[in-house]
Amino acid sequence: MSKRDYYEVLGVDKNATVDEIKKAYRKKALEYHPDKNPGDKAAEEKFKEAGEAYEVLNDEQKRAAYDKYGHDGVNPQAGGFGGGGFSGFGGFEDIFDMFGGFGGFGSSARRGPKRGRDLRVNLRISFEEAVFGCEKTVKIARNEKCSECAGTGAARGSSRKTCTVCGGSGQVKTVQKTPFGAFQSVRTCDTCGGSGSIIEKVCPTCGGSGLEKKSKNLTINIPAGVDNDTVLPLRGEGEAGEHGAENGDVYIYITVNAHEFFVREGKDIYLNVPITYAQAALGCELSIPTLQGRVKLKIPEGTQPEQKFRIKGKGVTTLRGFGKGDMYVTVKLEVPTRLNSVQKKALQNYQTLAGDEVHDEARNFWSKINKYNYK
Ligand SMILES: [Zn+2]
Ligand SMILES: [Zn+2]
Repeated sequence: MSKRDYYEVLGVDKNATVDEIKKAYRKKALEYHPDKNPGDKAAEEKFKEAGEAYEVLNDEQKRAAYDKYGHDGVNPQAGGFGGGGFSGFGGFEDIFDMFGGFGGFGSSARRGPKRGRDLRVNLRISFEEAVFGCEKTVKIARNEKCSECAGTGAARGSSRKTCTVCGGSGQVKTVQKTPFGAFQSVRTCDTCGGSGSIIEKVCPTCGGSGLEKKSKNLTINIPAGVDNDTVLPLRGEGEAGEHGAENGDVYIYITVNAHEFFVREGKDIYLNVPITYAQAALGCELSIPTLQGRVKLKIPEGTQPEQKFRIKGKGVTTLRGFGKGDMYVTVKLEVPTRLNSVQKKALQNYQTLAGDEVHDEARNFWSKINKYNYK
């Protein structure tokens, strides 16, 4: 897949300012956010693409490298989506951090307790389950709030105290005096790790993390119309956040088993049906199995091998119920290999009777090719 130009992805000019890039990204991120487009793979791709473009264009150095060398000049970290490691999903947190106020956070940069990790679950379902939807239960192992301390990390009877070093802000300001004047810098408080509070006595069950590994059965409603590579988000079902921070999400990656006979391409279904020479020559009516029950299909007299017939509306209903695909039946001519003597005799009689009169193509071919005088 060729990568789109990052400026094009965000819909900004090559000379766009940092502010314009930020604004453009925010717009795209909101529009394609998986929250707003559950199960929509295209939106998710766009969301990821925008994140990747932003990551590069928002960084002065990376942007310069990209301007000079294009995609070869940068090595975006967001490229791992759908691949092996699944760490952080292209940065939901980053978006929340970046635009304080989005999703209800305060306006200051968010520090301290970390949001829980997102989890990836690979789920294999049958052809019919994908077409009609189904309910599945999967077992996941995840960090949940520690049952002993309710996620605080503090032992029973003890509690969290405001950090005395930073006064609860989670940040420490230092002033550096130089010949050019005093410079103030802000860093995360080492004592409380940025959380603003410290534990008096650590919970023995979780060792102060506030988290406990548990396995849990998740029941998932798979909507009708999912296909290979559909990703379904389950908000808040991921790992618990640190010390009461928000949970991560679970992403269900769907793989659909192949059907023995039906082949699905998007919303259309393809089926090969063997017919005999007599059926093709004389015409017949076939009873075709479809996803919505059997339908009669008229094979007209003189049907040729590989001829394709459309059965309207017997395909797959798309994921969000917009429209329905069709079914395409291709006839495969089967030539018998084990005729008995009576059957052979009948066919020989047929051949004598038909001669080459009814076989236009054969007659044309032999009459023309013979003119070439090949020995
Ligand atoms: Zn605990
Ligand atoms: Zn502190």
